[in-house]
Amino acid sequence: MKLRIFNTMGRRIEEFVPIEDKKVGMYTCGPTVYNYAHIGNLRTYIFEDLLRRTLEYLGYRVKHVMNVTDVGHLTDDADEGEDKIIKSAREKGKSVWEIADFYTRAFFRDTERLNIERPTVVCRATEHIDDMINLIKRIEKNGFTYMAGGNLYFDISKFPGYGKLALLNLDELKAGARISIDENKKNPHDFVLWFTKSKFEHQAMLWDSPWGKGYPGWHIECSAMSMKYLGDQFDIHCGGIDHIPVHHTNEIAQAEAATGKKWVNYWVHGEFLVLSKEKMAKSAGNYLTLDSLIEKGYDPMDYRYLCLGAHYRSQLQFSYEAMNTARNARLALMERIARLKEEAGEEVKGEKGGMPERESAEYRYLESFEKNITEDLNIPRGLADLWNLLKDRNISPGAKLSVAYIMDRVLGLRLKEAKLPEVEIDEETKELIEERKRARERRDYALADAIRNKLKDRGILLEDTPDGVKVRKA
Ligand code: AMP
Ligand code: ZN
Repeated sequence: MKLRIFNTMGRRIEEFVPIEDKKVGMYTCGPTVYNYAHIGNLRTYIFEDLLRRTLEYLGYRVKHVMNVTDVGHLTDDADEGEDKIIKSAREKGKSVWEIADFYTRAFFRDTERLNIERPTVVCRATEHIDDMINLIKRIEKNGFTYMAGGNLYFDISKFPGYGKLALLNLDELKAGARISIDENKKNPHDFVLWFTKSKFEHQAMLWDSPWGKGYPGWHIECSAMSMKYLGDQFDIHCGGIDHIPVHHTNEIAQAEAATGKKWVNYWVHGEFLVLSKEKMAKSAGNYLTLDSLIEKGYDPMDYRYLCLGAHYRSQLQFSYEAMNTARNARLALMERIARLKEEAGEEVKGEKGGMPERESAEYRYLESFEKNITEDLNIPRGLADLWNLLKDRNISPGAKLSVAYIMDRVLGLRLKEAKLPEVEIDEETKELIEERKRARERRDYALADAIRNKLKDRGILLEDTPDGVKVRKA
């Protein structure tokens, strides 16, 4: 089955055809590690994880590259303001390296808790300054740059396709109101490739370069690192929709100015998570982290479940009501799976990767699931397929489980770990269970049943299995 996916470049759903058969090169813009990721950022990483898992499900070998921005991302994407990490370090009284290290670890702890697969390559900006300098040299050699006020700029007037991704109308914008504070720019959309002059002190983060001692602009890191690990042309580039007009637009200009050819084939962007109609921005100070949800008693996987319920191209409005619904649904799902596990015993084919028979009833659900996930990544419908499968009374527990596990390769809900809620057994209950056992041994089934009913009223179910009595919550 082929994936069909919405390409921001061209704004239409296209069939995905990789450059190299069976392989996918995929780059996702990573975190700027000056603070914890907020749950909006995490929604984007979950969406990217779903895309990657879908590709893997379809049999592609995915090389997934993600950067970690530990230098150069200013508080404003358009070259204004201060380096986010330097600002955070000053405010917290730590070194820039300590800040970057701390929040990088925090980021991967979050993604691990959300069952997001780790990228094949994680690359830090500060460890790739030479690659950035080399790429800037290529751009300069091809005539796309100018020096002004000590900084090296990208001259967008030299790049005819500028703004194609975002459908920018440059004439309109030029005539319009947005006036850059940076007077060195010939055009407000020109952007810095290399800074040597800035309003702020950058003691710890300065590197030598042909343009003077300084530091790279933010956009160049993604072009340089993606090309280093995926080549001058690759398949998929992702991020949140906010990156379309500036960051990704500039990444394309840099890469294509250097190589003279098309860079990325598919641009895939995730919509925002919004809090009461407003964009959730880290810089606004008031934002929710995964830890803040955990403090409120949620499991990180409840948040993953919430995100699975919305299509990646639709805005998702966050609320605690929606979180509660997601939690309840996920708990019900896990309980159902745990019960199926008990009923099915060892007979679960999917665990070993076996596919259901094409003629079988369960196969229909898997077929529908595959159709949905490959139609522009319709995960909400895929999740509905899983529920429909579980509700079908004509399918055996083992068959249900095997297909559920196959679907979970994409959904990533950790279904295999499902366990029935633990029951706490106090002394009195223990005694009653023993008494019932003795009654059964005497063949006093009337008493045994009476005890069983008594326990049921207390919310405890006893089940006689070949391995002995099992106790679970009613
Ligand atoms: P940043 O750390 O700011 O570079 O952002 C990391 C990722 O999160 C990027 O792909 C952004 O596009 C994305 N992002 C930022 N805010 C949100 C939001 N409210 N909802 C979804 N994604 C977001
Ligand atoms: Zn990027």
